[in-house]
Amino acid sequence: MTLAEFRALASKATPGEWWRRISQSGICAYLYADGHLLADLHSYTEGPGPDRAQRDANAAWIAAASPTAILALIERLERAEAFIAKPAKHRFWRPGEADCPRDIKAPNGELHTLRCKVCGEDDPRDQICRATYFDAPAGEGEG
Ligand SMILES: [Zn+2]
Repeated sequence: MTLAEFRALASKATPGEWWRRISQSGICAYLYADGHLLADLHSYTEGPGPDRAQRDANAAWIAAASPTAILALIERLERAEAFIAKPAKHRFWRPGEADCPRDIKAPNGELHTLRCKVCGEDDPRDQICRATYFDAPAGEGEG
């Protein structure tokens, strides 16, 4: 299944909070979506089958994989792929910039350290500035 197909399915499914409740007997799991009963998962089987703990784990998994969660994961994946395809580079302070930190200025006005304006790293080993990804709004990008 492609991400576009996942997105299309998730966009049509009931949004909002999904959760599950296990019956007292442990045979059924009730799945709710946005305050309404979505599914009654009868797990009772004759013969071998999942035990109560496994049924609970399966229902928890279904509830966690809500359309909202899947759409957020797709967005996060696409954002990460875009960053990998075109990583942001450090943006260094330059001599003469009015708000340049004093501690990286030499007496002659030149800069004795390469400091990134975005991540604050001094003399970074590579050109990629990960702060543009990890410090993005809405908690996107963190692992
Ligand atoms: Zn940087």
